[in-house]
Amino acid sequence: MPDRIEEIRAYLNRLFPVCRSITGPGNRETLKVLQEIVPLEIKEYPSSRPVYDWVVPPEWSIREAWIKNPDGQKIVDFDRSNLHVVSYSRPVSGKVSLAELENHLHYRTVLPRAIPYRTSYYREDWGFCLSYEDYQRFFRKEGEYEVLIDSTLEEGALTVGELLVRGDSPREYLISTYFCHPSLANDNLSGVVLTAFLARELSRRKNNFSYRIIFVPETIGAVAYCAHNEAAMKAIDCGFVITSVGGPGRFGYKRSFDPEHVINRIIEQAFQESGIEYLVYPFDIHGSDERQYSSPGFRINMASICKDKYYEYDFYHTSLDNLDFVKPEFIEQSLRLYLDVIGRLDDNLVFVNQQPHCEVMLFRHGLYPKSGGGMLPGRNTSEELDIILWLLFLCDGTASLWQVAEKTGFDFKDIVRVAGMLESRGLLKRIDERMTNQS
Ligand code: ZN
Repeated sequence: MPDRIEEIRAYLNRLFPVCRSITGPGNRETLKVLQEIVPLEIKEYPSSRPVYDWVVPPEWSIREAWIKNPDGQKIVDFDRSNLHVVSYSRPVSGKVSLAELENHLHYRTVLPRAIPYRTSYYREDWGFCLSYEDYQRFFRKEGEYEVLIDSTLEEGALTVGELLVRGDSPREYLISTYFCHPSLANDNLSGVVLTAFLARELSRRKNNFSYRIIFVPETIGAVAYCAHNEAAMKAIDCGFVITSVGGPGRFGYKRSFDPEHVINRIIEQAFQESGIEYLVYPFDIHGSDERQYSSPGFRINMASICKDKYYEYDFYHTSLDNLDFVKPEFIEQSLRLYLDVIGRLDDNLVFVNQQPHCEVMLFRHGLYPKSGGGMLPGRNTSEELDIILWLLFLCDGTASLWQVAEKTGFDFKDIVRVAGMLESRGLLKRIDERMTNQS
């Protein structure tokens, strides 16, 4: 898919420099660019409004930020990297002593060339981030340092993007990504770009189910989205938080909270059939927006397929998580895996037998071998006949095709194919009800 790889590369290059946060103009700009890929609806949730136990914060904008040394030379400059400023820093302007300034400097000694990523969303503060090498080089002189952060925190809005892809059934799967990080490539520009291309692919194909695809700032955006779409979100059974999909390291997936849930099993099947080695990260209470979607009020089983999962790689949340580390080829590979998994999930229909009283007279429907008596149960060569019989037996409107496959041991894809054939003959009918007790 060289064309798609080149498209992904172009969007990575355009979106990487944008200064995003949990609110602000960089977020709108990002969604506007993504609208070239898919017709996202942009929604704004006003500042200061409560959303469950939270309040939508003020909107943050930043124009300029720097530190000048006692000789008047700029030694840290937001223009060179938006990671240099602690995200959500309040405005500041004036001269400070080195001792005072030290309280507002962030660096990491273990990765001395990397600028760390820091935020201060819920405590009013200001700060600068820089590499440990620069810290050692530029902050030796005693004296007054001049600092400027030309930012504003004002009433405004929190911006989210949404696309609803309608399938035959109104029952939805959730696909969510977060776009609140500034110039950081794997966590999570890779997830943002993958989600936009995934949305485009899903919009182009015919789906059995519907897909609610959302771009939200992490945590507060997911909380606000749930609060504004509570009924729709409560009706969703499972989905994906898409993040960290473009690193050079290994594939892996974070399980949803119910390890037996079909979404986890389908992901493992897709990995195994594609021959990709993968790591399994059990569900834990940290992580990303699954913390909101899986909370008791929603209980959506959310899984994440990653390539270099957040927390797990050395460059995580530093300036080294850049476009030298992330490659469009890796994102495209992750995209194909997501499309495979979602395709299987989309095939996982629930059917009900239209002739539930006693057996269907298979011969009448052209489904039985020409002569009787020649086959022994379980030993005949016609596996298809067994699948037909099991489907007609198990499809009472409660079992999904995945459950039929697990109960019978037949290949899921064969079950799907035969179920489609029985549907076309009017013997099975799909139902839209929310699947219960999926496994
Ligand atoms: Zn992050």
